[in-house]
Amino acid sequence: MGCLWVVATPIGHRDDISARAIETLRSVAVIAAEDTRHSRPMLLQHNIGTPLVALHEHNEREAVATIVRRLEQGESVALISDAGTPLISDPGFRLVRAAREAGIRCIPVPGACAAIAALSVAGLPSDRFVFEGFLPPKSAARRSRLEELAGDPRTLIFYESSHRIAESLVDMRDVFGAEREAVLARELTKMFETVIGEPLRQLAERVANDPNQQRGECVILVAGRGEDTDAKLAEGQRVFAILREELP
Ligand code: SAM
Repeated sequence: MGCLWVVATPIGHRDDISARAIETLRSVAVIAAEDTRHSRPMLLQHNIGTPLVALHEHNEREAVATIVRRLEQGESVALISDAGTPLISDPGFRLVRAAREAGIRCIPVPGACAAIAALSVAGLPSDRFVFEGFLPPKSAARRSRLEELAGDPRTLIFYESSHRIAESLVDMRDVFGAEREAVLARELTKMFETVIGEPLRQLAERVANDPNQQRGECVILVAGRGEDTDAKLAEGQRVFAILREELP
């Protein structure tokens, strides 16, 4: 039996790929990639000439059967996605599940993931968090998903596409409240990387008024319920203590 290596690739900066990932991608018989045309240039940059097969949303069922057969025949296979960690808002779940059911060893080769990279610099509580991936594209469904999350005390992490960022932030402001703290992490590890943290009122307004903030790839992080109110309570108590000292 071969092994299925699940290999993370960069989310922007070409060097964010581990030595072990490169070595693995060079040594396997075949790489299953989400979009072979997209991945080939990245692989060639690292002198990886391994043959590619496509494994994407639309062919996953058939591709999985073929790949599992190759694994059972003793070939080792690496799974990559267009960027970051496979299976994280990317294809691969069915393949990993089928491989494990067939008794094939699945080995992670960890690396970049936009959600974790964003969390690592957001300055929001990181001890407990929820990864929500992409929100529904239509506002009614998006709002009802946000309503389900409004009482969650954990930091919330969302992926969002650039053309929906402005409307999603407005929905978040309306559902979570204008004072809830949020962070927009854009173009991480790339030339125009920006990380902006402010209450949803300001963030929604800033993005609506600045087309540059609506470009590229982004992660939205929102403080869990309570974090913002706790901070405001603490600030209120601090101001009150100062006033009490000053007032006659
Ligand atoms: N598998 C990837 C990972 O591990 O992060 C995620 C793939 S998902 C299809 C693409 C989404 O991830 C983008 O729409 C964006 O929300 C987020 N993303 C990917 N790269 C990013 C980057 N460099 N900066 C900010 N967000 C990014």
